[in-house]
Amino acid sequence: MTLGQKLMNRLDAFARQSSEDGALTRLFLTQAHRQAVDDLMEQLRGIGLSPWLDAMGNVQARYAGLDPHAPTVMIGSHIDTVRNAGRFDGTLGVFVALGVIEELAKNGNRLRRGLDFIAFGDEEGVRFPTTLGGSRALAGSFDMATLGLADAEGVTLETALRAFGCDPSGIPALARKPGSLHAYLEPHIEQGPVLEAEDLALGIVSAINGASRYSITLTGLAGHAGTVPMALRRDALAAAAEIISAIEARALAEPDLVATVGRIEALPGAVNVIPGEARLTLDVRAPDDAQRRKAAADCLTAMTRIAGRRGIGCEILPSHDADAMKCDPIVQQALATAILETGRGPIRYLPSGAGHDATAMAALCPAGMLFVRCKGGISHNPLESITLDDAEAVMAVTIRAVDILAA
Ligand SMILES: [Zn+2]
Repeated sequence: MTLGQKLMNRLDAFARQSSEDGALTRLFLTQAHRQAVDDLMEQLRGIGLSPWLDAMGNVQARYAGLDPHAPTVMIGSHIDTVRNAGRFDGTLGVFVALGVIEELAKNGNRLRRGLDFIAFGDEEGVRFPTTLGGSRALAGSFDMATLGLADAEGVTLETALRAFGCDPSGIPALARKPGSLHAYLEPHIEQGPVLEAEDLALGIVSAINGASRYSITLTGLAGHAGTVPMALRRDALAAAAEIISAIEARALAEPDLVATVGRIEALPGAVNVIPGEARLTLDVRAPDDAQRRKAAADCLTAMTRIAGRRGIGCEILPSHDADAMKCDPIVQQALATAILETGRGPIRYLPSGAGHDATAMAALCPAGMLFVRCKGGISHNPLESITLDDAEAVMAVTIRAVDILAA
């Protein structure tokens, strides 16, 4: 069986570790996550490793290198999912890592550096109002105050960790020493349509986009839809429509910049009432922080201007701000060499619009990602899929890249 076929079979089988019949839902520290951990540890033991569950619910394992003092190379991704997920997001990188180590172990090959296998437990941030807990724990940036945060049932993260068999007091000790990791490599599906549109199997991630988010409230004057003439209206929703168009035009003006109004609400929300209030959200992302800040500022200026001209009140509250993470040149270079040497070119660099564990790991060590084309760019959806040939490509390229990074 080819390495790609093995990868596809493992991903198919692992999708059964779910809390729903006929759909894949594997939230952090649930029974389904527990079964997934046990299954994964069994498979890791099957290739000769001695895995362990750490204090933050990550599955870790070490494949020793020839030089016990050399900083190691970490590979993997996450095994938690969103609700009604696809089987590739996160899990792909975990089983690529397992397959790479299996190939080395099968032939008794040791690289100079040891390899650290990682399956993070908390990337999606669906169950608790926190995200990247596993990677932040390793990077030493985990905030212990988040242990008190509760899920929708009122169960705190601390309680859930204990019920899972993890001791939260051990989390600070999970932090790897700066310099102890040579690189972190995360293979992942693209979750977007760029590679497919360009007929490419793989892409090297150049940066993980930073994001700015805002909540906006526009206040006009509600009135009778039949009696108030158009010229005398202060329609909050009509103002929102003009604002959304302006935001779209601003984002279209630059490559790699994206801006989204993802939610909108009109009040009072009746067919015969002029909307007196409109609430909307804005999400702006870009690979470059200065570019993102400038674009966000331009969007806010446009909002204020449009609202002002229409006699509409405009309140803007920032709700989230994260800087972009540049992927490290040593990881990008290893991936580029691996793609060329395995004949899987041409090389395409692209930013990641979504956040990933690599964002947190970049604070600790050189971090980078290899993207795999996914059908229709669809993700966070059961329709997520990749081709067998692309599975072969990601295996071949990751094996070679790990070889380079661990030399
Ligand atoms: Zn993911």
